[in-house]
Amino acid sequence: MIISGKELALKLKQEMAGEVKTFPAKYGRVPHLVVILVGEDAGSISYVKGKAKASEEVGIKNTTIRKPETISEEELLQIIADLNADDTVDGILVQLPLPRHINEDRVIEAIDKSKDVDGFHPGNVAALWQKQPCVLPCTPKGIIKMLRTAGVEIEGKNAVVVGRSNIVGLPVAKLLLDANATVTITHSRTKDLGEVTRRAEILVVAIGRPKFVTPDMVSDGTVVIDVGVNRDPETGKLCGDVDFAGIEPKASIITPVPGGVGPMTICCLMENTIECFLRKMEK
Ligand code: NDP
Repeated sequence: MIISGKELALKLKQEMAGEVKTFPAKYGRVPHLVVILVGEDAGSISYVKGKAKASEEVGIKNTTIRKPETISEEELLQIIADLNADDTVDGILVQLPLPRHINEDRVIEAIDKSKDVDGFHPGNVAALWQKQPCVLPCTPKGIIKMLRTAGVEIEGKNAVVVGRSNIVGLPVAKLLLDANATVTITHSRTKDLGEVTRRAEILVVAIGRPKFVTPDMVSDGTVVIDVGVNRDPETGKLCGDVDFAGIEPKASIITPVPGGVGPMTICCLMENTIECFLRKMEK
């Protein structure tokens, strides 16, 4: 079974659009997401466009602030400070990566925690690990939603996460742990990766290497979630971290790239923006 993140995201966005329509009457306005894009990176431009399109579909107000690569850290921090103080702004997202002269950690920390729709602020990260209310990071949240929708029982399962980044690997592992899976986190120094991945009942791969996970690394019946977004060196087309063609016949469930985790990430960004808006309105 192939889980279409695209179809699930479409359904969830339609449901959110219905909810957002009721907001002007209840709260006097719709949620407002501000996305800051620094520089001209083609990938970042395309991600930001995707976020604006999804906002339009859901009925959320979206403002994209574009700044040149040469913007100083101080100027960027000032823009964020102004947005923090603006009561009509509910969500702030700075598209990563940033130019090297800007300290990403400082920028993320500058965003008001209650407007941090990406869930990257240290306050939200700490709250996640302490099981406190927080904004969940979009990609891990989307993955758990896909598993639940596909009817995958997570509790008691042996889950293996390949990759330990702050934005995907670690928070996915934490959410799987919270759902009572037994979780193994692997990384570039893991000695025999195949030996570990073959024991997975749920395998989440987030490393950023085209078709890195081969069929011999996956056991029959495994649920495979492919987070990677890469260019296939042979065809130039988008592909994931797993060899989809080789693994699909063995997996009980698998996500495609494109059309899998990516659309769910943007969908959860919309959900987080609505959550931040409602938390403020219902205070
Ligand atoms: P990072 O580069 O931050 O992390 C990669 C991780 O993979 C690291 O933990 C690294 O280990 C591990 N790794 C690298 N090589 C190997 C190896 N040979 N064996 C085992 N582990 C290895 O990447 P991200 O987590 O940010 O992103 C991963 C992928 O997911 C990328 O393709 C990215 O584009 C995609 N992505 C997709 C999203 C979506 O919405 N679909 C959202 C975010 C990311 P170590 O820690 O030891 O260096």
